[in-house]
Amino acid sequence: MSPIIAERLRGLVYGQAIGDALGVGGEFHSAHDMRRIYPEGLSEYEQIRRSSHAGVWKPGEWTDDTEQFLAVLESLLDSGVAEGDVDLGDIARRFRQWLARDGRGIGNLTFVVLTHECFLEAPHEIARQLWEQRGRRSAPNGAVMRTASLAILPWERDLQAAARTVRAICELTHADPRCAWSCLVTSFVAACLVRGDDDIPGACERAMVCGRALGLDEAAGEETRSWIEMALCGERRKGRAIKFIGHDPGRGYCLKTLYAGLGDLSLGHGPGQGYTMRTMAAGLWAAWHAESFADGLLPVINSGGDADTNGAVAGALLGARFGGSGLPLRWVEGLVNRERLDAALQRMQPVLGNER
Ligand SMILES: [Mg+2]
Repeated sequence: MSPIIAERLRGLVYGQAIGDALGVGGEFHSAHDMRRIYPEGLSEYEQIRRSSHAGVWKPGEWTDDTEQFLAVLESLLDSGVAEGDVDLGDIARRFRQWLARDGRGIGNLTFVVLTHECFLEAPHEIARQLWEQRGRRSAPNGAVMRTASLAILPWERDLQAAARTVRAICELTHADPRCAWSCLVTSFVAACLVRGDDDIPGACERAMVCGRALGLDEAAGEETRSWIEMALCGERRKGRAIKFIGHDPGRGYCLKTLYAGLGDLSLGHGPGQGYTMRTMAAGLWAAWHAESFADGLLPVINSGGDADTNGAVAGALLGARFGGSGLPLRWVEGLVNRERLDAALQRMQPVLGNER
């Protein structure tokens, strides 16, 4: 594997875990609460308030988002990444094993799907049935939170086959087409970034073409497009934002939030904080606008809302863009159980080794 890809993969895997572990301090808070609880901004694991929710994790410990990300990743490393090798039943079993062993932080929909008595025999049917029972309205971020792991699929060999795999893994638990769309865009952007292609708007465009060729729901595709535009359009105002950061470096990221469009995503107020499009957009916003890993991650986390999940996706994309060496060392070293990340990374070397 080229050293650049290895470096960016390390960024992706560690970035996911860091964003998740740091974001847990912001989960379920409004942006207003975040400013009250963390007047200096949340930027260290040790700052995280030991509330009844966040207190169930140690400082620096990742949550369900990265557990499921690793379940997918480790399954792919065992089975192979080609469409015919990916073992969906094995991924479903790993989700269930994690739930039995730990289960902390699991989302409502994922919980009812995984605990259904027929889940292991027919996960796709169960996920669809439960989504339909909820009036087909529910499109939470429980699949997009784990999807950056699919950057390692062989996209360059067969784009549509990789896209089908993304969809199949999403639909193990989440049947709504908005979930599949957000997973496809996020996975493909992650795949491009890992391979050194930083043209995020271009990657989104190609993912949209790919989703249509896959036959994904068109109305959900239009909604995806509008969220992508909302996430990326702040670019127009970037010059102004940078000017403001110059005035107040310590609080710079808050000012930049106002001027570069993160506020439009309403991460920490209003209903639907765990909406899959919102999480995808937070990741795209961060990876596209940031000047560094921290510069993208901190405003996302400090916006509150579903901050660990938004942080996980933003962290993965930012890590893929800035690479392992772009991650602040204290966040890398403060992670609990990081040996598991290193073990997965070591096994990834041969997987992507023959692709370029
Ligand atoms: Mg979580």
